[in-house]
Amino acid sequence: MIHKKFLLVALINLLIWPMASVAKDYAPSKVEMELTQVSDHVYYVQGKAGIATDNEGFISNAGVVITDEGVILFDALGTPSLAQKLMGLIAKKTDQPVKKVIVSHYHADHVYGLQVFKEAGAEIIAPSGSELYIDSPNAENRLQERRVSLFPWVDDDTRLVRPDVYVDQSMVFTLGGVEFNVTHLGDAHSDADLMLYVLPDRVLLSGDIIFEGRVPFVGSANTKNWLKTLEKLETDNVQALIPGHGPAASEPAQAITMTKNYLAFLRQAMGAAVDEMMSFSEAYDEVDWSDFNQLPAFDEANRRNAYQVYLSLEAEALGQ
Ligand SMILES: [Zn+2]
Repeated sequence: MIHKKFLLVALINLLIWPMASVAKDYAPSKVEMELTQVSDHVYYVQGKAGIATDNEGFISNAGVVITDEGVILFDALGTPSLAQKLMGLIAKKTDQPVKKVIVSHYHADHVYGLQVFKEAGAEIIAPSGSELYIDSPNAENRLQERRVSLFPWVDDDTRLVRPDVYVDQSMVFTLGGVEFNVTHLGDAHSDADLMLYVLPDRVLLSGDIIFEGRVPFVGSANTKNWLKTLEKLETDNVQALIPGHGPAASEPAQAITMTKNYLAFLRQAMGAAVDEMMSFSEAYDEVDWSDFNQLPAFDEANRRNAYQVYLSLEAEALGQ
């Protein structure tokens, strides 16, 4: 009898275990999210405007490319709960599994959803150089901070998922007859950035290197590389651009030009100040910001951006 009872328990465990390991309990998300189609194969969800901890952390975009042989994602959103919600939206459009997640860069608002897709069997692809962030104390500190500021959507079970594949320069692949081009941009907006181009649809998913209709967040970016990339970007053929934040640009060339002009202006204005050995605050007050001061996020971002560029140009001038 004992044997039979033991067997029964073992059998029940065997039945329950796979279900338990598939259906993870993530905190339910109430934030509104909808999948918007921009071309034959490409859709995206648009994060809300606001700071990182507003709207359950739903502040960044994710791209979804649906083919007959699987789904490719671009970025993974800022919490596992959001990622699970996105999975639900994708399942309403297609039976195809998510095959790959291409990560534009390892910043918190784009990566904490990765574990959901990884658990579902997707391959994670990221720019080489991402490991600089992943292995830094910053990454651990940020996660600890979000476990508090975004609880319960980010909690002790939330983890930073490492890439399966690092892209060095570029990577081209085809899935379901759709050709994809992944380009490494170097350390532009972060330690390592990449963008994805969906060739037949002529849709560019840019991550945070191009901002639509607002002053970019420069952070610790290498503005020299960033600018060079934008200058090189061949935009004539691009039909639509999905940035890392904000709506898809209907005039991609304009969005690219705006970001480019802003960075070039910052470098030129702060470069002149460094050449003349002016102090930052003196230089900042003297610059005519009228081309940009009407743009959203100018008040929040511009002075800090200018200071960061001033410091980096000073370092360049000193040969550091
Ligand atoms: Zn971002």
